[in-house]
Amino acid sequence: MNDLPQQIDVLIIGAGAAGLMCAAVAGQRGRSVLVLDHANKVGKKILMSGGGRCNFTNMYTSPENFYSENPHFCKSALARYTQWDFIALVEKHGIPYHEKTLGQLFCDNKSKDIVDLLLAECRAAKAQIRTRCSIESVQPQDTGYLVETSLGTVRCKSLVIATGGLSIPTMGATGFGYDVARQFGLRIVPTRAALVPFTQHKRQLQRQQDLPGSALPVTASCGEGSFHEQMLFTHRGLSGPAVLQVSSHWREGEAVSFDLAPDRDLAEWLAQQRTEKPDAHLHTVLCGLWSKKLVHHFLTDKGIESRPLKQFSSPELAEIGAKLQTWELVPAGTEGYRTAEVTLGGVDTDAISSRTMECKTHPGLYFIGEVLDVTGWLGGYNFQWAWSSAHAAGEVV
Ligand SMILES: Cc1cc2nc3c(=O)[nH]c(=O)nc-3n(C[C@H](O)[C@H](O)[C@H](O)COP(=O)(O)OP(=O)(O)OC[C@H]3O[C@@H](n4cnc5c(N)ncnc54)[C@H](O)[C@@H]3O)c2cc1C
Repeated sequence: MNDLPQQIDVLIIGAGAAGLMCAAVAGQRGRSVLVLDHANKVGKKILMSGGGRCNFTNMYTSPENFYSENPHFCKSALARYTQWDFIALVEKHGIPYHEKTLGQLFCDNKSKDIVDLLLAECRAAKAQIRTRCSIESVQPQDTGYLVETSLGTVRCKSLVIATGGLSIPTMGATGFGYDVARQFGLRIVPTRAALVPFTQHKRQLQRQQDLPGSALPVTASCGEGSFHEQMLFTHRGLSGPAVLQVSSHWREGEAVSFDLAPDRDLAEWLAQQRTEKPDAHLHTVLCGLWSKKLVHHFLTDKGIESRPLKQFSSPELAEIGAKLQTWELVPAGTEGYRTAEVTLGGVDTDAISSRTMECKTHPGLYFIGEVLDVTGWLGGYNFQWAWSSAHAAGEVV
């Protein structure tokens, strides 16, 4: 049954964060808007985000929090629809929220509050939404585009691709947006799973078999990325915010370095402890820093024997401090798109107007959100990019 309008001003493919935001903004300008999604419900990633509480933005959002081949591309959209604009929208809808850490704003209740906000805005804008609709083809017309779908054919003046990246295919992620971009001759910046846990080799996992569930603050560094946050040992390897963040900088075969006591120089600290508590055992003193399990593991792994501190010479303590301070690791890999929060790379921004998100070579064709080669850090930045890029397009489509 052809359940769709045959002609519409704006057709948006993808009813996720960016697609719904763009629909609301365009509809409120009086444009007729239709949003299509192949999934059985809208905003699935929003629903699962932030551990069910959606980290919907970050108070400190700035262009430095994003990766892209062109780091300037995101500036215009982020400046014209800021985190404060989205926070005002959240407050307009009476959604309670709080700052968890580092400017990260989360819903007090559940992520569904954000989906409900977007749906209410779309309703007010009279934007139509259809789920369970697969897109069969996209063809350029003299003016506008013709899109064939499982629910019928639609002609539109503006076509907005908001189909996101490749992460979590079980949630409906596909490479559709990249295929459309290629169809129109656009380049795709090679894609990679990012904000993703590391996996470790079997032998290393055996050495860490008592550690899954243990966490500690670290500074994780790789290439130009360095992040001071928590690290978590898992059954497959390493996770936690510091690891997810640094994964965006990691390439196969590279080493990642962890400062396991980022707030102090361990050699100096141990020397001071020896002065204050000469009879205390090394492992007892270290339990002031790390859990018992971690202390046992680090000492065994580095072949350090625990004795009363007074029995270590100064050079010995300095060597132990240096050994315990840093951990270098070459991860076996990552958990890949199966669990990655985002996809690095995507539609090359060279082909896109940073003011409107319109394709420079194909008027009326827009790309917004994660499908573009703009990827945020962990902490609410990816949703802010979805809101900002969607708003930029919504104002002109
Ligand atoms: C587990 C998890 C937790 C996250 N938590 C956070 C967080 O707390 N804060 C944060 O800022 N970011 C978070 N992210 C990242 C964030 O969810 C994304 O960056 C954001 O959703 C991207 O918005 P988007 O609209 O571009 O794409 P999406 O939200 O992914 O929406 C794309 C839509 O397109 C549809 N679609 C895909 N292919 C097709 C097709 N072929 N035909 C029709 N429809 C299609 C999909 O069904 C989907 O509805 C998280 C991601 C994951 C996976």
